[in-house]
Amino acid sequence: MTTRHLSLLKPTGRLTLGNLLGALRPMAAAQDGADCYYGVADLHAMTVTHDPAVLRERTDELRLLLLAAGLDRSTLFVQSRVPAHTQLSYLLECVATTGELSRMIQFKEKGRGVGSTRVSLYTYPALMAADILLYRPARVPVGDDQRQHVELTRDLAQRFNRTYGEVFTVPELVVPAAGARVMDLQDPRSKMGKSSTDTAGVIHLLDSPDVVRRKVARAVTDSDTGPDAVRPDRERKPGVSNLLEVLVACGGSPAGLTTYGALKRAVTDAVVAVLEPLQQRYADLATDRAHVADVYAAGAARAREVTAPVLAAAEAAVGL
Ligand code: AMP
Repeated sequence: MTTRHLSLLKPTGRLTLGNLLGALRPMAAAQDGADCYYGVADLHAMTVTHDPAVLRERTDELRLLLLAAGLDRSTLFVQSRVPAHTQLSYLLECVATTGELSRMIQFKEKGRGVGSTRVSLYTYPALMAADILLYRPARVPVGDDQRQHVELTRDLAQRFNRTYGEVFTVPELVVPAAGARVMDLQDPRSKMGKSSTDTAGVIHLLDSPDVVRRKVARAVTDSDTGPDAVRPDRERKPGVSNLLEVLVACGGSPAGLTTYGALKRAVTDAVVAVLEPLQQRYADLATDRAHVADVYAAGAARAREVTAPVLAAAEAAVGL
């Protein structure tokens, strides 16, 4: 059986160079010889106060960016267009307990004890479990921040299977090969995040070459001078190390670079060379909306088709 991969990205904030190197590139590489389902998790963008117009705009941008990033050999879909996700989520809420949902880190840190917290912030781990279980992937690669969610998914699947009969494939949790981790250019000890409010150190995928140049030029380095100042040392030289990693991940070479000015020019050139073709494809797609709509309509139809038997089996098992 072909391996199946599944990955959903949340349309909150604008995608960054970190998303490209840490997520979209590996997702594109995974397409060889595998059956990939990649989607826009629009429902997950509603667990906190949201503006409908912004959600629509971000969802649209992400739809184009997934295509522009070369994921065109995958089944691409928007989560809300595949109702099985919310339908199965409810069935899983009926196996999940308030104890385990209360222990989920996001809820503990952002919502517990706050009267205005949306119920969906409490229940979204069940939706995430549905996102995964519907596609029966054998393995789910997880970074540290997602470990708790996938463990809950396994617990819910096992409990469901024990209580109502074998319906779900219990996915194995695998630690992905250490991928690029891009740090904020202004705060190189923190991840470059798409939801950061201060974007001076964040390179967005649609930033123009000028904006990239300005952000890289202002990147935090250190006061080392001398012939070996340009060297990696995550602990003592986080800014310089980050620039070197970005340079190499974007196809550049640190050979012969001895000053921070030269390093920054090389980083700018390498990043712009990676972003330009992506931005060109994005611009082409933006003028061919009918094509984008067709791709996502076909993707949602395929996603509905492959998830229907799983949902039907789960419904029958619980007595619906
Ligand atoms: P997020 O933007 O945090 O919702 O994450 C979406 C995906 O992009 C996940 O697979 C993250 O691991 C990846 N990602 C986000 N930010 C970075 C970063 N700065 N460096 C590497 N990967 C990242």
